[in-house]
Amino acid sequence: MTSNQTRIPAETHGLSLADLSDNARFVLEKLHEAGFEAYAVGGCVRDLLRGRSPKDFDVVTNARPEEVKRLFRRARIIGRRFKIVHVVFRDEMIEVTTFRGGDTGEVKRADGGMITRDNVFGSIHEDVWRRDFACNALYLDYASGDLVDYVEGLTDIRSGRLRVIGEPEDRYREDPVRMLRAARFAAKLGFHLTDDSEAAIAHCRSTLADISPARLFDETVKLMQGGAGRQTFLELRRLGLIEYLFDGLDHWIDPDDPVSDWGLIEKVLEATDRRVEQGLPVNPAFLFAGLFWRMLGRHRIKWLHQRVPADDAMVLAADEVMANMAKPLMIPRRLAEIIRAIWMLQPELERLAPPSARIGRGAEGKVDALDDNQRALLEAPWFRAAVDFLCLRSATPEVDESVCVFWRQYAPERSGHEEAPIEALQPSDFGKKRRRRRPRRRKPGGGNRQPSGE
Ligand code: ATP
Ligand code: MG
Repeated sequence: MTSNQTRIPAETHGLSLADLSDNARFVLEKLHEAGFEAYAVGGCVRDLLRGRSPKDFDVVTNARPEEVKRLFRRARIIGRRFKIVHVVFRDEMIEVTTFRGGDTGEVKRADGGMITRDNVFGSIHEDVWRRDFACNALYLDYASGDLVDYVEGLTDIRSGRLRVIGEPEDRYREDPVRMLRAARFAAKLGFHLTDDSEAAIAHCRSTLADISPARLFDETVKLMQGGAGRQTFLELRRLGLIEYLFDGLDHWIDPDDPVSDWGLIEKVLEATDRRVEQGLPVNPAFLFAGLFWRMLGRHRIKWLHQRVPADDAMVLAADEVMANMAKPLMIPRRLAEIIRAIWMLQPELERLAPPSARIGRGAEGKVDALDDNQRALLEAPWFRAAVDFLCLRSATPEVDESVCVFWRQYAPERSGHEEAPIEALQPSDFGKKRRRRRPRRRKPGGGNRQPSGE
């Protein structure tokens, strides 16, 4: 691979090391002092050049993971397909990767070209060709303050272009998740995919089926909770990628028809985007409850028509949705429990709300104004989350607003960080538990949950 390095001096590119977080600078400095090369790379450089504050800071170096680990007090090596070091600070984590080596025979691939093991280290001019998009492949050199650009990434950032580095089909086959990333960046950055980067998706999208459900779940959460969830969903749809995340959903979505499943999904995504913008915590249970709600309703009606009791119909429908529509993803068990709890409470909340004319007559959140059944609902796990979800539904024609108004009295919206629709889940509610329960998969490409740095 040719390497035409362009070095853009600090005076010209306008970025300063002072724009990085203190922790990122600390990590770069330590590496530099120990005699290693050290660069800030990827989304943080891209976002700073666009005048946005980065979500996180990624560092790349020629130090090996073990060497990086030794330099920091709280650092751990993670990842199997590609080892990465997480340097942990009180309120931030810096991901440090070692330059990836060129596309040598040492990289292990499955039959279709997917990279399954990748612990070949290299130098910066090999590393650059392993990155996904040109706008993500700019390096800010700690030693000189120069911006290092091999792939005209700076031009792309300035012109809003999203371009796969290298041959798009090969790069998507190597790692099909790059197609999802394309949708995410196009939506979040407002960038345009180049023609060949977009056209290749139609040829490669079926390879997404080879990605482990655990990694797909992680990516889906990033897609929907990255701050531009609504736009990302529409972009995924435009690129024909929805069906690889939510089996059978695409058919029910019509952005021009509010009566289609889009009616509620748009509300959920907008609510999520608003919270992300305000820096408030978001919980994926709420999101998935909304994505699958209408599908749940269709299954439920089918069972009701077969004269199954209402409660059982709900349980059967939830089982079906989780087994079918959510199949491409591995939704962690704890999360699935919360999603179900939110769903199960919906018909009860509707059934037990008084007719709209009687709402607001002096009850105003007084628990002793409730009957026993109503009072029991207040004690149900995830009651508040269920009310939040109910109120989202009441913004569509399916629930009368008065039902939301009534229950809201008993689950007042909280302000600021307190306002989380659902208490933020702990990391232990996700990957860790799930991993321990599952035996390690040895299938090529299977079970390799990778952190963001691939
Ligand atoms: P974000 O703002 O979401 O953090 P990002 O571009 O920093 O965006 P990360 O997932 O943090 O994305 O990854 C950091 C960098 O690592 C990317 O900018 C890209 O250069 C590289 N990278 C990450 N994932 C992949 C991948 N699947 N294939 C190739 N390169 C990748
Ligand atoms: Mg990043």
